[in-house]
Amino acid sequence: MKNTPQKIAFLGLGSMGLPMARRLLGAGHPLTVWNRTAAKADALVSDGAAQAATPAEAVRDADVVITMLADPAAALAVADGLIPALRPGTHWIDTSTVGPDTVAALEARLPDGVTLIDAPVMGSVDRAASGELLILAGGDTAPVADVLARLGTVTPCGGPGTGAALKLVLINAVIGGVALVAEALTLAGALGLPRELALRTLAEGPLSGAVGRATATGSHFPVALAAKDVALAASSAKLPVLEAVHAALTADPALLGEDLAAVIR
Ligand code: NAP
Repeated sequence: MKNTPQKIAFLGLGSMGLPMARRLLGAGHPLTVWNRTAAKADALVSDGAAQAATPAEAVRDADVVITMLADPAAALAVADGLIPALRPGTHWIDTSTVGPDTVAALEARLPDGVTLIDAPVMGSVDRAASGELLILAGGDTAPVADVLARLGTVTPCGGPGTGAALKLVLINAVIGGVALVAEALTLAGALGLPRELALRTLAEGPLSGAVGRATATGSHFPVALAAKDVALAASSAKLPVLEAVHAALTADPALLGEDLAAVIR
């Protein structure tokens, strides 16, 4: 017998949250959405989602709550509104990239009977839309397996906070790799080599994945969010190379809204 689709509340309809929420609506889940800027929900509401006026109203009747918010400040602000309204038995999946400290702060405030799964994702807006995200999960994902399967492939990382921790490791390796490609291209230019030659041959070596990300066209991961992820990492360990990358990422305000690939231009 087919299971009844779980009722989902989705909070945070930015570049990533909107296509993720759309996939869940498309899978037949009753969906209630909330976003700080309410108009971003219009298209989902036209397609059958309910819109809540507050985070508390969004989560009140949900079986599963999903948050996809910009940063720790956003996650904590929205948590203030939603936590008092969570029912026992609700599963809350936080897919934002906020680091393990924020996950621990949220976990400490959970009402009895509510579980939190940290499930940040690798993959950008293109893979959010196609349901091909890599989901890094801390905690027990079994009760929400159907929901997560609609969004991507789950990598179980361990207990609470481990998904958030591995996400910082993986994304910082990617950001550092893209920054290194940018610097290699600067060196190639200084040495009078054609940029295309340098890029093509870098892509034939061990940095091929970083070149792929640095030249991606279907992604929209703004430099400002990348800088946020580097700052989260640098608050956990001494990382002099990534600290230099952070300074480079934040040096030009015009780049902050651009996809990470802009750093090689
Ligand atoms: P985004 O487009 O900037 O969306 C951010 C969301 O957070 C929006 O819904 C925004 O609401 C909300 N928000 C920000 N500050 C808030 C506050 N103080 N109170 C309430 N809501 C607030 O970002 P995104 O690209 O979707 O990324 C979301 C998360 O996923 C980030 O942690 C990011 O690092 C991570 N991520 C992004 C990508 C990517 O390729 N973009 C890939 C993997 C992971 P408004 O609409 O009102 O501004």
